[in-house]
Amino acid sequence: MNYFSHNPLNRFSEMRPDEAHMQQLWQMQETRVLVVHESLSLLQQHDLGRQAALLSRPQADQLASAAMVQVYLGSENGVPYFALGLEGVQDTLPTLLGEAYALADLRTTAHELPLPDSALLAYARGMVHWNLRHRFCANCGTLTRSTHAGHVRECTNGNCNLHHFPRTDTAIIVLIAEGDACLLGRQAVWPSGMYATIAGFLEPGETLEQAVAREAREETGVALAEISYHSSQPWPFPSSIMVGFHAVAASRNLLVYNDELEDARWFTRDEIAAGLRDGSLRLPPVISISYRLIRDWYDAAAGYNLEALTGY
Ligand SMILES: [Zn+2]
Repeated sequence: MNYFSHNPLNRFSEMRPDEAHMQQLWQMQETRVLVVHESLSLLQQHDLGRQAALLSRPQADQLASAAMVQVYLGSENGVPYFALGLEGVQDTLPTLLGEAYALADLRTTAHELPLPDSALLAYARGMVHWNLRHRFCANCGTLTRSTHAGHVRECTNGNCNLHHFPRTDTAIIVLIAEGDACLLGRQAVWPSGMYATIAGFLEPGETLEQAVAREAREETGVALAEISYHSSQPWPFPSSIMVGFHAVAASRNLLVYNDELEDARWFTRDEIAAGLRDGSLRLPPVISISYRLIRDWYDAAAGYNLEALTGY
């Protein structure tokens, strides 16, 4: 499974409209609270490394004055989990909670965390981010209020009354292969030597397969002969779902003429191995579905093992 896919909670989405029940869950002794401060996630240092900070209710109550939104995430083994979205208390958090607690960017720390923790933090981050960026109704501009335990925002203008739901932006990502080579591209802003799979957002009126074919053609000029689904990954930076594919190109003819990619080229497995050994090639981070699409293709040939080269 991909990073951010191991959420252990039962979301109990059918219970969210029951405000009295949600309030009971919030009051429970066992309740645990994840904290998102603007775009950062609260982690706790333990003897064996960092984990998601799971605050007790008394700890969470100390943060109440800075809480902009509260979201019920779900429950596991009778323990309710909530997310609190905070603003403006970055400097006071260690004083309030202790030095073991620190805010961190989930994107650069997820690989250190237990898999369920990274998934919980991704879910919490996505929900808080959506709430804090939808404080006003997109239809009439009036303030919205949080309902359904943080999963719906309702317009407070009685003549509009629109309900807004968390949005997830669908992006496709594809490893394109032809024979013993795969097609990787790079953006000018990426670190030197880094190449990754082709990706882009789904457009209205488009199937996932059409988006895969369009992005391949737009970014590299390559026509695809076969497209097959691989896996998907929640990507809460800020609100995407990455839908991953493997594809086979009709030919290796490239035409890189758009603004998105600085370069795209075919890499054989041996070229990837050589590039990783001498440092001229860097692959995307282990937490990304891009890395996993590359790894699964690379390892599919006998005698090739990407982990032996990358260490992850
Ligand atoms: Zn409205």
